[in-house]
Amino acid sequence: MPDLTSIGERPFAGVAASGGVAHGKILRVGTGHPEVHRREIEPSEVEEELSQLRAALVETRQQIREIQKRVSSALGAKEAAIFDAHVLVLEDPTLIEEVTRAIRDEHHCAEYAVQAVAHRFSAALEGLQDPYLSERAADVRDVTQRLIVTLVGGPSCDLAQLTEPVILVAPDLTPSATALLDRTKVLGFATDSGGLTSHTAIMARKLRIPAVVGLGDVSRRVHTGEHALLDGHGGQLIVNPTDGTLFRFGQIRERRAALEVRLKDLRDQPAVTFDGSRLILAANIDEPAETATVRDSGAEGVGLFRTEFLFLKSSDAPDEEQQYAAYRTVAENLAPAPVVIRTLDLGGDKLPGGVPVSEQNPFLGWRAIRICLSEPELFRPQLRAILRASAHGNVKLMYPMISSVDELLAANEQLNRCREELQRAGVAFNPKMEVGMMVEVPSAALIAHELAAHVDFFSLGTNDLTQYTLAVDRLNQRVAALHTPTHPAVVRLIRMTVEAARTHGRWVGVCGETAGDPAVIPLLVGLGVDELSATPSLIPAAKFLLRRLKRSEATAMAEQALRCPKASDVLELSRSLASAVAPELFGGS
Ligand code: PEP
Ligand code: MG
Repeated sequence: MPDLTSIGERPFAGVAASGGVAHGKILRVGTGHPEVHRREIEPSEVEEELSQLRAALVETRQQIREIQKRVSSALGAKEAAIFDAHVLVLEDPTLIEEVTRAIRDEHHCAEYAVQAVAHRFSAALEGLQDPYLSERAADVRDVTQRLIVTLVGGPSCDLAQLTEPVILVAPDLTPSATALLDRTKVLGFATDSGGLTSHTAIMARKLRIPAVVGLGDVSRRVHTGEHALLDGHGGQLIVNPTDGTLFRFGQIRERRAALEVRLKDLRDQPAVTFDGSRLILAANIDEPAETATVRDSGAEGVGLFRTEFLFLKSSDAPDEEQQYAAYRTVAENLAPAPVVIRTLDLGGDKLPGGVPVSEQNPFLGWRAIRICLSEPELFRPQLRAILRASAHGNVKLMYPMISSVDELLAANEQLNRCREELQRAGVAFNPKMEVGMMVEVPSAALIAHELAAHVDFFSLGTNDLTQYTLAVDRLNQRVAALHTPTHPAVVRLIRMTVEAARTHGRWVGVCGETAGDPAVIPLLVGLGVDELSATPSLIPAAKFLLRRLKRSEATAMAEQALRCPKASDVLELSRSLASAVAPELFGGS
């Protein structure tokens, strides 16, 4: 590998997705079969592109030698000799010259240049109709494919089987791949795509893995083995950090560690504001194993159990019994604290592994309650499992993505049929189990009065509510800056929901990512919500803030915010109040 440290410190800015600072070696991972596009580069980019090519040639050579070693010890030196031919292809001066020329003179990006030249070479060899030379054509294709994979993002690898601690850098990670990361080996991760509320980012916060997403083309700009510092608070990946940078981040780490100790002391204290208003601070979870984390965080129960992850983590959908066991475990472990179990919210970016995204607009398509209502054989076992679990704790059921009264009535009808079935079969369940719905589609907020008549509570899903209100894809880093939950339109929809709930004597929670964001919490409290539900790792800071905040001040601030024309003004009002009462959470003391 060329001496990459000589290039100096290279900072990349993205979206701060999960707090914490990590320092270690980079492992670049990719999809394994990248698509190569013809991309023109600027003349000023030629040298950088050639240096990418040189680094990739060295990295690919190392990979081939590594494979050769493994084959040699498993099958013998003779079998492993074939890889000598592969290395020769990589070192072929004509091939390298041709690729270099295509980059320098024709201004092709490196991967396209490699693909085009390799295609010409292998076609010429095959055209000679000699069995030996056809073999060489296969070698050229094999090796150059490996080189392209290295160039555009590295080989796909089994992330659960990492052997040393690394910072992962990838074009993207799916939420299910993230869920399977080995936390002892993954110090942090950085991805080209994604936004703050992508489920990959949510998963990272849950696992307490520092993460930065939406970094553009970072996975093409870094190399496996380079040292980097990942700043999950500030949203930066700093490759080859200088000693000065490492020192500065060391100090930030120390300050945060000291604050963590203070936050821990609040674990058993209630979430009550400084002027005595009681709120419920609950946790968002994805699996039963998280109940210990919930208790440790100081949360009072679960405000959102994202049950779709039970489906995403295994190749077979869990049946009614398996689901019942999972829900019952959570209910029993946390009783008498409430556990809000959300019915399946599959679709969007939450698809079982291997399922191709075949819809043009998956977040507007066949998702969540829409799938459940059209697939009763998927929905009803889950409804029965939740009902049965309600006999063992304080279980509440919640539907995702309701957009109309018809949908809500259809879901309630299925639930009633399940109640009747269980009753007839003499199976125990809580007939008074509360049933609620997420308010995450603008239409639901606008007809909240009509919907309130048919549920016991609302939970505001601000991730999707923001996405759908502002028409901003929550996964697309190009528009990440537009995904602003403090936009006046979103704030007004939250207010409308709270008012409708009040009128009908219902309670309202927030379970989107804003519920754990100290800068936005004063606004939510001021708008009148009763419950905040956030990733367990964010609960201690939220409680610290709530206990210093006066509800009366938050309410006055929210009234002012409702008159603001801009998202940035609303955020500034809320953040100012938060940092005035809890400066420690914003880097002050
Ligand atoms: C939301 O949309 O805010 C929410 C909590 O649901 P999810 O993030 O699972 O879509
Ligand atoms: Mg949602």
